[in-house]
Amino acid sequence: MELAQIIEQYKKKRPKSAQLHAQAATLIQGGVASPFRYYEPFPFFVERGKGCRIWDVDGNEYIDFNNCYGAIIAGHAHPEINAAIHEQAEKGTMFGIPGAITEKLLRELLRRYPGMGFFRISNTGNEATLYAIRMARAYTGKDKIIKVEGCYHGCHDAVLISDKPHWPAQMGPAWAPTPTIESAGILYDTAKNTLVVPWNDPDALVACLDRNLGEVAALIMEPVVANFGMCLPDKGYLEKVREITRRYNVVLIFDEVKVGIRLAPGGGTEFTGVTPDIVCLSKAFGGGMPIAAFGATADFFDMIYPPGPMIHFGTYNANPVSIAASLACLTRVMTGDAYKRIRSLGERFKKGVEDSIERHGVEAVVSGTGGMYTVFFQERIPRNFRETLGMDRKKWHKWWMYLVTNGVYFSAPSPYEETFISAAMTEKDIDEALGIIDDAFKQL
Ligand code: PMP
Repeated sequence: MELAQIIEQYKKKRPKSAQLHAQAATLIQGGVASPFRYYEPFPFFVERGKGCRIWDVDGNEYIDFNNCYGAIIAGHAHPEINAAIHEQAEKGTMFGIPGAITEKLLRELLRRYPGMGFFRISNTGNEATLYAIRMARAYTGKDKIIKVEGCYHGCHDAVLISDKPHWPAQMGPAWAPTPTIESAGILYDTAKNTLVVPWNDPDALVACLDRNLGEVAALIMEPVVANFGMCLPDKGYLEKVREITRRYNVVLIFDEVKVGIRLAPGGGTEFTGVTPDIVCLSKAFGGGMPIAAFGATADFFDMIYPPGPMIHFGTYNANPVSIAASLACLTRVMTGDAYKRIRSLGERFKKGVEDSIERHGVEAVVSGTGGMYTVFFQERIPRNFRETLGMDRKKWHKWWMYLVTNGVYFSAPSPYEETFISAAMTEKDIDEALGIIDDAFKQL
């Protein structure tokens, strides 16, 4: 089947979404609240979700593997999380006054991340990385930070640099990437303090630190990349990064907004066995409500005002409804068994997709682990962002479009996103999805 025919089928089954999108586009640019949500010819409009299924306004059903970009781990409308939300909402949604419930969540986080000395609660991944960087700068008295090429850490000015650089001519050499500003409105003066290194290259990190000796406050990275698709660290890479950052007195920040809570109870830190100085959490941590946290080792405890010099304010910080949802998700739903189930469903899923790839002779590979996977339409699993640039985006697009048209919301609409297994899935759901995924490969 040609892409044009798939798109025709997509449109035919979604007249209400088409209409709603056309109306929305007169009120909001592109008809979506975040541009990542748009794809041609128009995104479907969702009505409700339950467990691992979602339904759109036209009554089409999907198995949801996007799970709100990884923010849903328990499944949609989980009864225990919903009960906790309702119970708290009955008591009041927000006060801007301390409540006993926050302490319970902080204790749970410290249990899961024993290397951390404290956590502070915010609302979004953006805030968590912003405050983590601010804290590292306040602590070291230095200005520059280093990030990994191709990685997204939110859209504040310091990190919207070399997120997905598109023009090879602007990218500079692979071992010393030129930082590229990814949004109009970001001041060059802000951006010049963000340096960029390639993933999985400890020598390039050392060279970057030598070129900027004594000027770097922090290195921010995901311990397992989930932002140019899934890209695991080479064996020993993170241990080297830990040693190098110690040697150069650079704060190591793990942005675990995507992998935290998910890859293991103690997220990427537990999964990789490497402990950073600061960790950022959000998404799966919230049980479906907006919440984030940044935690740090005990040496940073006195940094926050008062008595410390670093500001962390926010009307919505530690709002009790999000805390109740997060606490229910972490303590009642995401037990050891749930992690085991996600891992074993993930393996079944990965194997099934790989079998289909082989059966249909498609040039594609599955990258990932622990219930988070990306299908790259290229010969080899990439080791860094540049190794993804040759992927066959056209094939990916046709394949993804077939899946969404036929009820598998495999990932958000980008070849750099991943599929997330949720605790609400069963082997039956996985096998049903694998059947449709197999059909999609057949179309190629
Ligand atoms: N860090 C990472 C690793 C992310 O994946 C994201 C969002 N995809 C963010 C930060 C920003 O989180 P938010 O969208 O909640 O602001």
